[in-house]
Amino acid sequence: MIDFDNTEIAFRHRDAKNLKKAYWLFRLVASPWLVKMGSFLLHIALWLRIPVEWALRPTVFSHFCGGETMHACNETIQQLGQFNVLTILDYSAEGKESEADFEYTRGQIMNTIDKASAEPFIPFAVFKPTGLSRFALLEKVQTGQRLSGSEQAEYERVKARFNEICAYGASKGVPVMIDSEESWIQEVVDVLVESLMFRYNSKKPIVYNTLQMYRHDRLHYLHDFIGRARQKRIFPAFKLVRGAYMEKERERAQKMGYASPIYPDKASTDQAFDEATALCLEHAGHVAVCIGTHNELSCTRAAEIMRSYSLPKHHPHVSFAQLLGMSDHISYNLAAAGYRVSKYVPYGPLKTVVPYLIRRAEENTSVAGQTSRELFLIKKEIRRRRG
Ligand SMILES: Cc1cc2nc3c(=O)[nH]c(=O)nc-3n(C[C@H](O)[C@H](O)[C@H](O)COP(=O)(O)OP(=O)(O)OC[C@H]3O[C@@H](n4cnc5c(N)ncnc54)[C@H](O)[C@@H]3O)c2cc1C
Repeated sequence: MIDFDNTEIAFRHRDAKNLKKAYWLFRLVASPWLVKMGSFLLHIALWLRIPVEWALRPTVFSHFCGGETMHACNETIQQLGQFNVLTILDYSAEGKESEADFEYTRGQIMNTIDKASAEPFIPFAVFKPTGLSRFALLEKVQTGQRLSGSEQAEYERVKARFNEICAYGASKGVPVMIDSEESWIQEVVDVLVESLMFRYNSKKPIVYNTLQMYRHDRLHYLHDFIGRARQKRIFPAFKLVRGAYMEKERERAQKMGYASPIYPDKASTDQAFDEATALCLEHAGHVAVCIGTHNELSCTRAAEIMRSYSLPKHHPHVSFAQLLGMSDHISYNLAAAGYRVSKYVPYGPLKTVVPYLIRRAEENTSVAGQTSRELFLIKKEIRRRRG
């Protein structure tokens, strides 16, 4: 049984000053009105081009991000690696719409693959589909509408970018995870990712799709895909998450009059997440899984299932992941117990990372229980150090 309350292990990478900073940050994001007002003011400041970097860089940015460039993440990579926590470099420019931006992002991801192939502390590369494609284009493809000639050419370029990244990952032996997004573009992404899995996962898991287990169709999808993959003799590979767009999904479904794709309550999502984890672990010989969660119980259950199947903690097909700056008590305690654990380490020019930072602040506010857990553990560690 992993002791997630062991704050000595959880925070040994933070000195006293750093621990205090984390404490104040979580105290601030625990206040919903402060986060609401802060993100509102931040949007206005960015819109008016008022400089805000001075306020963000030493606070939320340095807590949740590795740096503004891949090179600037080196310190974070080494700090995490010192405690056997690995890094997944996540180039986080969001809301980009031009071909030049998509090409730039593709180049960044190729660079992270190069870095991963040379750096033992980086097990995966990752990308977000809308970092390489216009959202509206994927949406149009999913609705089955006819694309114009230029749209078809644009879509071919998107497919080529996906393929180039995965081919490069395969050639360098670096697995590539593809994030999941809103359900009204995810079907197209699934089709693209499946074809890449069939192409590159014949010898080992290279391409990972992401399953949002708050969707009530995902368990069936997982069962079905494992069956299809077995027939084609490839390694299915998945990152499991609960899902980040619940409110948006429900609102859209209600507005457009279709049944919500999301489970009606948290307990059902939790159960689906744990069932999907169990299914992947049961087939760990030929299915790879990255368990992406800040939920202690899900991590404990996964560890118990691994033990029940006599899977070694360091099984090459099983890993855990959390986001930088969140749930260190899970990451560091899992790593200390011998499991393969990574942190998503977002990086990018500060202004382009702002939407990510706002989401982190809002997530920590809405997951009130988790923020109070983070605060409780930080306070516990401060008291322990005082003796
Ligand atoms: C390494 C990593 C990678 C990630 N990648 C992605 C990604 O590619 N795509 C993506 O969408 N998200 C991604 N996420 C975010 C993830 O989907 C969750 O939003 C976040 O991790 C919180 O879920 P949890 O399991 O950590 O914690 P918990 O606090 O146990 O779960 C919170 C989650 O439960 C679900 N939930 C809450 N209330 C309800 C309800 N009433 N009914 C139904 N479900 C409910 C929601 O999904 C909510 O986010 C990632 C997270 C991590 C750690």
